[in-house]
Amino acid sequence: MATLGNPSNTIEILQKYQFHFQKKFGQNFLIDTHVLEKIMDKAQISKEDCVIEIGPGIGTMTQYLAENARRVIAIEIDQNLIPILQDTLSGYGNVMVMNEDVLKVDMHSLIEEQNKGNSIKVVANLPYYITTPIVMGLLESHIPLDSITIMVQKEVAQRMQEGPGSKEYGALSLAVQYYARPEIVAHVPPNCFMPRPKVGSAVIRLTCHDRPPVEVKNEKFMFDLIRASFNQRRKTLVNGLGNAANLNLGKEQVEAALTAMELSPSIRGEALSLEQFAELSNILCQ
Ligand code: SAM
Repeated sequence: MATLGNPSNTIEILQKYQFHFQKKFGQNFLIDTHVLEKIMDKAQISKEDCVIEIGPGIGTMTQYLAENARRVIAIEIDQNLIPILQDTLSGYGNVMVMNEDVLKVDMHSLIEEQNKGNSIKVVANLPYYITTPIVMGLLESHIPLDSITIMVQKEVAQRMQEGPGSKEYGALSLAVQYYARPEIVAHVPPNCFMPRPKVGSAVIRLTCHDRPPVEVKNEKFMFDLIRASFNQRRKTLVNGLGNAANLNLGKEQVEAALTAMELSPSIRGEALSLEQFAELSNILCQ
């Protein structure tokens, strides 16, 4: 089977199987070998690695992963792609294709069964309509994970990487940075995909922390606090958190905590670092 990472081989396969793209599944297939090689390089895949690929499509990146990794588990929701994958991946004995919705897969059991519970890497050109649930699902599930190297919408990659003071900074930045070190490793224009997406894309690598960089007494409370802070971005923390129904805090309590941290009572959430959110959360959850 010829490698798929170019327009003519991709069109040939699509025509052979009379495949029709499904917009609802976010199907934009990679057709650029340079981008594929760059993803392999930045994901640092070696023959020791067990890799989970989310959304293999027709198997373009799966072929590269199969060449470079020890084992590949590819999870694809669209059953019309399964016969294609059986064809395009027939030359590789180290790939397992699963016809599942990734959001419904029990990752703990999968990793236990397929990799004896040892750390895996995730590599994917993600369906953009569910980027955040996929990434947060992986990070929050506490599965053994080395890194996640993913193609996402450019703006989402920027949001994951930003710090305080930027307008892109928000709940997603803090959640990702609590679990991993994000680094944008490539920018990818629409003409590297078929069909072309309407947005620019970027590859971001999230290298998972062994331990979170801050100590938090109650993780759920800190993330509720963070979400409430950015839900009403333009409000001060005193007003935003003091009014959030699920937090059960009074404005005076928030103001006292900020004073204890030597912060102004008129400060907004977008000015606080992860360390400061952790400290605020530890004071307020007492
Ligand atoms: N990896 C291929 C490539 O780079 O050419 C395809 C990437 S395409 C952006 C996203 C893929 O994810 C599609 O094949 C789509 O069918 C699949 N997909 C969408 N939603 C999914 C879900 N919930 N679970 C698993 N796969 C999904």
